[in-house]
Amino acid sequence: MQKMGKKVGVIGAGPAGIISSLIAAKSGWEVFLFDSNPGVGRKLLVTGGGRCNITNAKIHEDAFYTHDKSFVKTALQNFGRTDLINLLDQLGIPLYSTDDGWYYPISNSAGNVVDILDAVLDEHGVNKILDTTIVQISRDQGKYHLVCSEQGKTFRVDKLIIASGGKAYPTLGSKGELFEILKDLGHTILPIKPALAPIKTDMGSIHALQGVRLDVTATLIQKDRILGEATGNMIFTSWGVNGPAVMDISHLVNLNNRADMFLKLNFLNEREALLKKVIFENQHKKLPVKALLESILPEKICVYSLKQAKINKKEYIRDISESRLENLFVVLKNVLVKVKGTRDFQFSQVSTGGVDVREVNPQTMESRIVKGLYFAGEVLDVIGPCGGFNLQWAFTSGAIAGRLSY
Ligand SMILES: Cc1cc2nc3c(=O)[nH]c(=O)nc-3n(C[C@H](O)[C@H](O)[C@H](O)COP(=O)(O)OP(=O)(O)OC[C@H]3O[C@@H](n4cnc5c(N)ncnc54)[C@H](O)[C@@H]3O)c2cc1C
Repeated sequence: MQKMGKKVGVIGAGPAGIISSLIAAKSGWEVFLFDSNPGVGRKLLVTGGGRCNITNAKIHEDAFYTHDKSFVKTALQNFGRTDLINLLDQLGIPLYSTDDGWYYPISNSAGNVVDILDAVLDEHGVNKILDTTIVQISRDQGKYHLVCSEQGKTFRVDKLIIASGGKAYPTLGSKGELFEILKDLGHTILPIKPALAPIKTDMGSIHALQGVRLDVTATLIQKDRILGEATGNMIFTSWGVNGPAVMDISHLVNLNNRADMFLKLNFLNEREALLKKVIFENQHKKLPVKALLESILPEKICVYSLKQAKINKKEYIRDISESRLENLFVVLKNVLVKVKGTRDFQFSQVSTGGVDVREVNPQTMESRIVKGLYFAGEVLDVIGPCGGFNLQWAFTSGAIAGRLSY
């Protein structure tokens, strides 16, 4: 593609910045892609436990947390899951889906995804300016003036895409230094808090459950109000709980006052019918109730629940009354744990907050406040649950921003 002499700066070589750079370069822009890291896609490398969970069959605006779901809806209509799958396929990154709809590269290697994207940037002549942090942005005569930390080196570009991420996992590059500058440019920055983070809890009676991993439904409640709910895998740790079921609602811990906040854990879910069946089929037997429960649930969960339901683990199932069994089911579905907070940014996969999407045009990702300024990825106030939603968002918003439409 013949260059048209127009320059665009892209700050941040995460998935959002990489895809913006590629799309802009393909349509003739001279692209300068900056990152403080020595390589592109540093966070991308650790995603999905190194396997890179790129998107999800359930991508839908309702799955995202933001102040304007119609913003995400419009963006997904412009560049959705199928567009992403097709684009990656063309670039040499074919994907496959697991039974539960989580998409990964066939290579199962985030390293391979980054290598290919890096090579594609080179192929399209993107100027990668690495080990370089942008510390100042100003605008004059319709152009953007960028100052780098390294010896105050400067660049002038016609348009600017901010793809600098949020504050999660700062060791991988995104520390949120640009938010103050974006505020000075006139944008509202919504409070930035850890999200997709482990939840710290009172350990009290659940102390004994440390190390147990199982699928649960976790409901975050405050007094009689349900703040959020998620189902998935969860693990008990020495300080609280971790895993998708609780990470998916962790932003709500940080966005609300924490007084009287509890997690209600349901250990049964679809196991309930199975447990009822097992009990029904064995109810007249001289079989210790603990052994029976253990056919369905982890041992520590059985011991804990029987204790809470005041049933001796050695009691035979035939000797336990229906009402005591009913009480056991109530216990198994309503374990209450006091919430103390979440772990910090270094343990969270994304951050909630950032540039208020109501100040950005979802058709273009251009600022409604500053002309020629575009946003992509986690810098915007949009987060999704575990399962590939956040990379889809980075690629969706990045692809739209890279068109540099206005
Ligand atoms: C451990 C972990 C696992 C994850 N797994 C998944 C997963 O499997 N699936 C999923 O969908 N999501 C996952 N995520 C979330 C996903 O990685 C992020 O949503 C995504 O990386 C955001 O992309 P981005 O391009 O907006 O920002 P980032 O990837 O954070 O990239 C921003 C870049 O901007 C650079 N930068 C910032 N400021 C400046 C500056 N002033 N000058 C120069 N450069 C700057 C940073 O160095 C950084 O490289 C995971 C996150 C973590 C931490």
